Amino acid sequence: MRYISTRGGVEPVSFADAVMMGLATDGGLLLPESFPEVDAATLRRWAGLPFQELAVEVMLPYVGGDIRREELEELVTRSYAAFSHPEVTPVVQAGERHILELFHGPTAAFKDVALQFLGNLFDFLLGRSGGRLNILGATSGDTGSAAIYGVRGQERVDIFILHPHKRVSPIQERQMTTVLDANVHNIAITGTFDDGQRIVKELFNDLEFKSEYSLGAVNSINWARILAQVVYYFYAWSRISGGDTGRKATFSVPTGNFGDIFAGYVAMRMGLPVERLILATNRNDILSRFINSGVYSAGDVHPTVSPSMDIQVSSNFERYLYFLMDEDPGQVRELMARMAGEGRIEIPEEKRAEVARLFVASATDEEATLEQIRLTYTESGYILDPHTAVGVRAAADYPEAICLATAHPAKFGEAVARAIGVEAPPPPSLQGLMEKQTRCEILGADAGAIRSYMKETLAGR
Ligand SMILES: *Cc1c(COP(=O)(O)O)cnc(C)c1O
Repeated sequence: MRYISTRGGVEPVSFADAVMMGLATDGGLLLPESFPEVDAATLRRWAGLPFQELAVEVMLPYVGGDIRREELEELVTRSYAAFSHPEVTPVVQAGERHILELFHGPTAAFKDVALQFLGNLFDFLLGRSGGRLNILGATSGDTGSAAIYGVRGQERVDIFILHPHKRVSPIQERQMTTVLDANVHNIAITGTFDDGQRIVKELFNDLEFKSEYSLGAVNSINWARILAQVVYYFYAWSRISGGDTGRKATFSVPTGNFGDIFAGYVAMRMGLPVERLILATNRNDILSRFINSGVYSAGDVHPTVSPSMDIQVSSNFERYLYFLMDEDPGQVRELMARMAGEGRIEIPEEKRAEVARLFVASATDEEATLEQIRLTYTESGYILDPHTAVGVRAAADYPEAICLATAHPAKFGEAVARAIGVEAPPPPSLQGLMEKQTRCEILGADAGAIRSYMKETLAGR
């Protein structure tokens, strides 16, 4: 499989190059040239497979040419060994509702599903090429710890994660700073998450520094992250359909960067029987407004009880736009340029109708989020985390929808306690965090300071 850019300015590249490139060099996002087709007989066969074997089947056509089946099997086995549930991503019932639990990884949020795989993939590809990688990223909470757990202890990778000092939750901070492996470097910047993102962008734009120090990115623009997430849509469908290909599934997805829900779109394009994708946002609603009005325009970011979805510009949206615009990179370039200039784009009416045939969307405010946690708890005893609650709320009119549970409720204990008066019991990965030893550097929110720190640290490694 070869990969192309949504903006048409990249010669087709291999899977390995796409993973290492992250963002396409023309500023677009990388996509496979075509989707492998999964026919009904194959779907029925896959329906009996355990998660790890299914993952190999789903991913193999995308990595073909670069990674052999036995190598992929090994990568998948290693990546999901760190999950505490034997099914990796089980489908459970909360009353009548199906919940796809994606939070059994080491940091208790769904990002582990992709970042455990990406970490092992980096290790494998660098081992083969003899290269090294210095990952640099900014986090508002969940991505940082999941990325750190994905590469901790690796020989060919160092990871530098910036988080805003005292502005992430105590649990989130501890999840990052208690990882003491020599290749993990936590930096608390005296500033905001936006400052962190600005610094990261500035350092990636310092092309000399970027190439001399082999900077790499782990945010959700990396195709390998999307690919790993496609697997659990197939898995969830197989659990509820038992392999009956006449049975279509609806998924409700709490959304921020459009990454997770785009993976559902890819699964559908491959042939998974999907009825609808429910796009659920909190009050940062750029995406739900787009689905309902055809207008894509950024607003201000509001802090909410589901902070991992407090996003107003969705980096993965461009991938969907590419398909909506009939795979025409010229139109994507034009729309993205207009978005950059005017902060607003609008799609034609017939495209809006096409969007509405697959997607439904709604935004849920704080009060309704907490109310949903309360309601589900009262009805079934099941405790939703606030992100998952946004998805369950959006699926209110779709009782058959499978709701993606993107974080363990103990990770957002304060919001849960506000809703139901008790906190969820923490999984083993979140226990004892507050007593563990930590390591973290506190630095000013200044690109020069971060660059110097990285150079010094790497010189001593
Ligand atoms: C990142 C995150 C989301 C949003 O996922 P996207 O791929 O950005 O749409 C939802 N819930 C939780 C808990 C997250 O960490």
